[in-house]
Amino acid sequence: KRQQQHQYDRPKKIANKEPTTEAIIAKAKDLKKHREALPIYTARDIIIKEVKENACVVIVGETGSGKTTQIPQYLLEAGLAAHGTISVTQPRRVAAINLAKRVAEEVGTPIGQKVGYSIRFDDTSSKDSLIKYMTDGIMLRELLSDRLLLRYSVIILDEAHERTLRTDILFGMVKSIQKKRADMIQAGRRDIQPLKIVIMSATLDAEKFSEYFYNAKIMYISGRMFPVKILNTVEPQSDYVDSALVTAFQIHQDEAPGDILIFLTGQEEIESLEKLIEEYAVDLPPTVGKLIPCPIFAAQDSATQQKIFEPAPHGTRKVILATNIAETSITIPNIRYVVDTGCHKSRGYNAKIGIESLLVEPISKSSARQRMGRAGREAPGLCFRLYTEDSFDQLDEDSIPEIKRCNLESAILSLKATGIEDPTKFDFMDRPSKSGLLKSLEHLYALEALDDTGALTEIGKKMAAFPVDPPYAKVLLQSEKMECTKEAIEIISLLSVDTIFSAPSSKREEANEARQKFMSLDGDHLTLLNTLRAYESVKGDRDWCRENFINSRHMRHVMDVRKQLIEFCERAGMDPRKSCGHDLEIVLKCFLAGFFQNTALLQPDSTYKSILGGLTVSIHPSSTLFGKKREAIMYNELVFTTKHYIRGVSALESAWLSQAAPKYFGNRHA
Ligand code: ADP
Ligand code: MG
Repeated sequence: KRQQQHQYDRPKKIANKEPTTEAIIAKAKDLKKHREALPIYTARDIIIKEVKENACVVIVGETGSGKTTQIPQYLLEAGLAAHGTISVTQPRRVAAINLAKRVAEEVGTPIGQKVGYSIRFDDTSSKDSLIKYMTDGIMLRELLSDRLLLRYSVIILDEAHERTLRTDILFGMVKSIQKKRADMIQAGRRDIQPLKIVIMSATLDAEKFSEYFYNAKIMYISGRMFPVKILNTVEPQSDYVDSALVTAFQIHQDEAPGDILIFLTGQEEIESLEKLIEEYAVDLPPTVGKLIPCPIFAAQDSATQQKIFEPAPHGTRKVILATNIAETSITIPNIRYVVDTGCHKSRGYNAKIGIESLLVEPISKSSARQRMGRAGREAPGLCFRLYTEDSFDQLDEDSIPEIKRCNLESAILSLKATGIEDPTKFDFMDRPSKSGLLKSLEHLYALEALDDTGALTEIGKKMAAFPVDPPYAKVLLQSEKMECTKEAIEIISLLSVDTIFSAPSSKREEANEARQKFMSLDGDHLTLLNTLRAYESVKGDRDWCRENFINSRHMRHVMDVRKQLIEFCERAGMDPRKSCGHDLEIVLKCFLAGFFQNTALLQPDSTYKSILGGLTVSIHPSSTLFGKKREAIMYNELVFTTKHYIRGVSALESAWLSQAAPKYFGNRHA
């Protein structure tokens, strides 16, 4: 009832008219003043000079000072794009898109011309792009076809402090490419141009980067900072989403104008808090203005995303719901209040048992400080930490680089595919653990990407080129043999979003009932596929989605990924239309070829034990197999919260196991 009562400011359907050239140029002129007011502007000339004079430069500056949007433009204006594109790598897709769009506006040309972006499943850049924002993953993939990255004159590795696995690999790659290009020039190759490297970071651990890049010059850009008052909770909070909700309304009713930024760990949490805020906002007294939730995450259309940057209507207040992305990658104006849950989701890899999982973990002290800083960019602010002062004291100073704690398989594939035969000898800034490397090499061998000697196989070469992680790539390759490429592509696309189902807390039962229609007794993979078929049969009708509790926004994203994967398979010489018809058992066998490590067997005491590592795992309540007992199961993802939950679960026959991965299960018959 409540939901119908209140009419929220749903994003208005914006007529998708391309702005005129005049309008674009006028907007850029407008933005010029903003550009010149940024703290970094005073350092413009010296930045240009240092980059021209040095092969590597490390630039450290407060978030929001203008590094990511301005430095590429300065270098462009100084003529550094004369012999190649200026590229800027980002760990996150949403950041790459947003920043590119903003910079295109500032430069005054439509996105995809002078300024473009390239992320997995979406490339707007063209040959003429002078500045290109891209994810670190795309840069690694480009290395496969352009080993000297000759189309780039400057490579800016941004957000270096995040130390993602891919950025770490890129550090070593670009370092060696720079040297190779210099050697070729020395040897008289006049067709080769030198490569400039710029490392950008928001925190002060610059010495380490500088040392690694031959003692590169370090530049510090000062930002503006107003004081931020920190308020810790007195007691530890058991449910931070709930405390965030309470805190947001407290701020809204008691504090001066200014928007709120809440840090959460993922899309699911963001969406559930968005709904809660909408529900509770109904009870606000009429004298209090509206509180408008603005979620930000990857699977989102750009009009919705743009809304985050627009000022809240007079008398209202925005509350931005974001993940780590708002910590240093994207700066949202007008934030006066930060609510820090103290957690983030991070990839973890247990090398001993060889299992990778997503963990909700405490952030580091330096992250907590960054989050706090977001409240003091334009005026004094308040930071509400939903944890005690004691808990803060117990946080790690910095987070551990991803390379030390995650699965190295796609990294090893990339290294091998670019000609680095022995990844243990690679020039890592921080060396991954030997046992982690070995476990990953073993898994790649079991996936048949490497042969007995550790060399890349034909399958491995193909896998390296696919825009998905090695197990998914194996599924796609296997689907060609098993003649179910259509279904494999569809299921992989469906798995690319957190969930396609929506289950508002007030209507959980109705939602469950609606889901029964699509339910497959074999589990989630085929249930997803059934849902997609039904969605297609009504041509994605929005009313149908609403009635059946399908998240139509996520579904549209799924369809988009499917389109991209179809194109990719076509280019790789596969037939993406090959279908197994009604014999859907084949599809599960095909997935098993990539996910044989993610399997568990039913135990006499009715629990499930993972085949790898012997971990007791529990089927997540969102799964269609929740509470069911099958002799063997395969899962898509392991998430550790209160226990080891597995999601995306399907039932198997244990006899399939040895067929799926002979190299893994040996010749023994399970
Ligand atoms: P840094 O990389 O140093 O953190 P950025 O270059 O990302 O800084 O941002 C500089 C400024 O540009 C910020 O203050 C921010 O307010 C503004 N800005 C960036 N992107 C957008 C956008 N999409 N819309 C409006 N303002 C933006
Ligand atoms: Mg930046």
